[in-house]
Amino acid sequence: MLKGTGVSDGCGIGTAVVIEEKELDYSSVVYTTAEEEKARLNAAVNTFCERTERIGEELKKSAGEKEAEIMQGHIEMVHDPFMISQMQEQIDSGAVAEAAVETVCNQFIAMFEGLEDELTRQRVSDICDIRDDLLRILLGIHSVDLGSVPAGSILIAHDFTPSMTGKIRKENVQAIVAEVGGITSHSAILARAMGIPAVLSVPDAVKDIQNGDLLIVDGFTGKILSDPDEKTIREYQIRQRQWEQEKDSLKKFCHLPTRTSNGVAKAVYGNIGKPEDVQAVVLNGGEGIGLFRTEFLFMDRTAEPSEEEQFEAYATVVKAMNGKEVMIRTLDIGGDKNIPYLEMGKEDNPFLGHRAIRYCLDHQELFCRQIRAILRASAYGNVKIMLPLVTMAQEITKARQLIEACTKELREEGKTVREVPVGIMVETPAAAIISDELAHLADFFSIGTNDLTGYVMAADRGNQAVAELYDIMQPPVLRAIEMTIRNARKAGIPVGMCGEGAADPRLIPRLLEWGLDEFSVSASSILRTRKIISEHKAPEIHAIL
Ligand code: PEP
Ligand code: MG
Repeated sequence: MLKGTGVSDGCGIGTAVVIEEKELDYSSVVYTTAEEEKARLNAAVNTFCERTERIGEELKKSAGEKEAEIMQGHIEMVHDPFMISQMQEQIDSGAVAEAAVETVCNQFIAMFEGLEDELTRQRVSDICDIRDDLLRILLGIHSVDLGSVPAGSILIAHDFTPSMTGKIRKENVQAIVAEVGGITSHSAILARAMGIPAVLSVPDAVKDIQNGDLLIVDGFTGKILSDPDEKTIREYQIRQRQWEQEKDSLKKFCHLPTRTSNGVAKAVYGNIGKPEDVQAVVLNGGEGIGLFRTEFLFMDRTAEPSEEEQFEAYATVVKAMNGKEVMIRTLDIGGDKNIPYLEMGKEDNPFLGHRAIRYCLDHQELFCRQIRAILRASAYGNVKIMLPLVTMAQEITKARQLIEACTKELREEGKTVREVPVGIMVETPAAAIISDELAHLADFFSIGTNDLTGYVMAADRGNQAVAELYDIMQPPVLRAIEMTIRNARKAGIPVGMCGEGAADPRLIPRLLEWGLDEFSVSASSILRTRKIISEHKAPEIHAIL
């Protein structure tokens, strides 16, 4: 039996699919003759086309004609006579097939990236996919397409990056297992959002689990059972049914307003990463969006989304929430969220580095493109802007000046922009300590317990060795939270929580006692959070919602 940290509830029973991401390194490939290299290139192109054709056929059945057309587009691109002749020229001048593919694809990428037209720029990510697939074929590296694993799969990887998790199709995946990550890592957050059982921090999982192994993954306890007997499988099938029943019993909370046992009004909101996540929040009766992690719009692509593209994404969410609050957090990059095309540079301590609001204030054009898109979306509903990783008062005043300038500019262009409140995440000890001062500069607070716990306790959220320290119930973290809520109430601004602590049954009673107004949690935790709130009392102070 293997053991890790259960980070997403539920049990999965299925077959292991082990994902080994090998480096696409061809430095040891030796050039023989030009004919030989060209023959290797041709063979790779043929294999690529056969595979892509097959994936296209599957996609036609599972996702529809439109998605399948993308695959046909890849085949046409790889057959482009100009592209092929460029690769052959590279080979004639002494490059191995791998180098020819990489050089020519990169030249096309550079050319498309420079173009204004959005559609052409989108082809960049197609060419990146083609390049990597051709290199894998040439190097004989077998890679798993996460989007087309068979039903009943249990995915095993060293780590699931946000872009990998984005490709997972929930209906085919019973559970996920990774060697790294903890309860608040982004892979855990995404697994919970999708309702997939997950166990992280399982050392050597990729080595110890073989493709095709029959596994049971227990997302409650973190246990992984290999080759279980019939009796154990039946036991877990019963647990799966019980879990489904428990989820059913929570359904009655879907249409109820959030109230404590003594009738004080509170609100449970949902956290999202992509516009499509909003549906799960609506279906679970979320009373708003308390955190839109916009950095996910910037990931898994090779160029920044344009203002127009961002506007579409924000407006989709705002419209879907139909007048309910949507708190859009500005770009929170850096730390574990690297965006290669932004060339952020390597840092020795990325979690203490040039991330989030710090990066944005130093890259004002990028920041303002996002702000303009958010402000334009405000015309369709109830939008709030939330600044991540604030540590100093000046960051708020500087960001506000830019937001004001963007508002003025848009209005001069004749666009509708509503009054958009600007609040901050309190997720650094600095912000908590001066929360009395910041409360006069911000229109609201939202406490980010994932980062706050790590920074207060000086313990990494993904490191199993310090898991005991990285605990929201540690007294210094509780004091920081209490102080922040108290200072927000004193200044008369609303205070919510969008870190994972908002769904923690150990913490919720205290948050109620201290006067937290709004709890923003993953869609799959909305009903349980509302139920826990309904079982506890809160002081009858006027909620500032
Ligand atoms: C947090 O730090 O609590 C938070 C909500 O932000 P993220 O998890 O995206 O860093
Ligand atoms: Mg954070």
